[in-house]
Amino acid sequence: MSIGNNMKVKSIKVFGKGEVGLEETSFAVTADETLVRVTRGGICGSDIHYYQHGGIGDFSLCHPMTLGHEVIGRIHQSGQTVAVNPSKACGKCFYCESGNSNQCVNMEFFGSAMRNPHVDGGFSEYLSVSKQQLVPYDDTISDDVMAFSEPLSVAIHAINQAGGVLGKRVLVTGCGPIGCLIIAACQAAGASEIIGTDLSERCRDIALEMGADKVYSPLESLPTEYTADKGYFDVSFEASAAVQAFHGCIDMTRAKGALVLVGMRPGMVDFPLTKCLAKEINIRGTFRFVSEFETAVRWLEKGKVNPLPLLTRVFPFTQIIDALKLAEDKTSAMKVQLSFERRDEKFI
Ligand SMILES: [Zn+2]
Ligand SMILES: [Zn+2]
Repeated sequence: MSIGNNMKVKSIKVFGKGEVGLEETSFAVTADETLVRVTRGGICGSDIHYYQHGGIGDFSLCHPMTLGHEVIGRIHQSGQTVAVNPSKACGKCFYCESGNSNQCVNMEFFGSAMRNPHVDGGFSEYLSVSKQQLVPYDDTISDDVMAFSEPLSVAIHAINQAGGVLGKRVLVTGCGPIGCLIIAACQAAGASEIIGTDLSERCRDIALEMGADKVYSPLESLPTEYTADKGYFDVSFEASAAVQAFHGCIDMTRAKGALVLVGMRPGMVDFPLTKCLAKEINIRGTFRFVSEFETAVRWLEKGKVNPLPLLTRVFPFTQIIDALKLAEDKTSAMKVQLSFERRDEKFI
């Protein structure tokens, strides 16, 4: 492939419900942007949603879109390894100016159909991205690890939304990839005790590897001290999107504690208003991340968080359907990654 203004690049596109495949398109680098050769990408729940449903929540695909927002690569010119921040905020709106660019009203987020035309994602051999989206890292750290930068930044933002966890008792309901990364990040951030719950024994085992002190199935009875005296945990993270888990969090969070809503569930949930009000529980949402992206890159680079227990398998990007089929199988997959390395092609 020649790198010029009319290069052909293969990308992973979603065309509609159940329709995902490779497409080769011509590609040009925008004048003020940087050319990045993608090396690795993690498949996220939202990518799976677009594949399964042709949309996510209220947003349906209006035209084909490149998937993916958890990507790393190398700057084409220098070979520098970089994590690619999938958020491109406008920098001018009220939210950007007040330091909350994750709420930017003009946000262009990789692989998202929230805006129309949709913003293409990062599952592509090459990307043209603005410099501010690139966070360089030490190239001795493996792709396996660094491709967790984006989901780890989501976990660290959730902790910041809780007001920190240093010295606190933490409950995490739902030990999927994000729940487990919250567990690991809470340990790195100095939580005094971390308890996880999940229906799946496999997820509970991984949660222990990721730093949970104890794990429980929500089907067994949890220690009565968790609900005695108005609750036990200073901070709860609800990452399962199960209604019962939400209720459990309200019961087990101490009066005046914080409950961060991480798991997404469309529609209404019956809400224990009286308990929340009387216990003065601080319920907080969390959405994507701001400066936590850089923090996540540094934590992975320094080994503060080891995400590898979560990595189920790496597929060549050309086997995208096999990769999605494994990723959507919650009984055997946590995080599935795609490798974009072209071994037949010399670098630079
Ligand atoms: Zn993601
Ligand atoms: Zn903005």
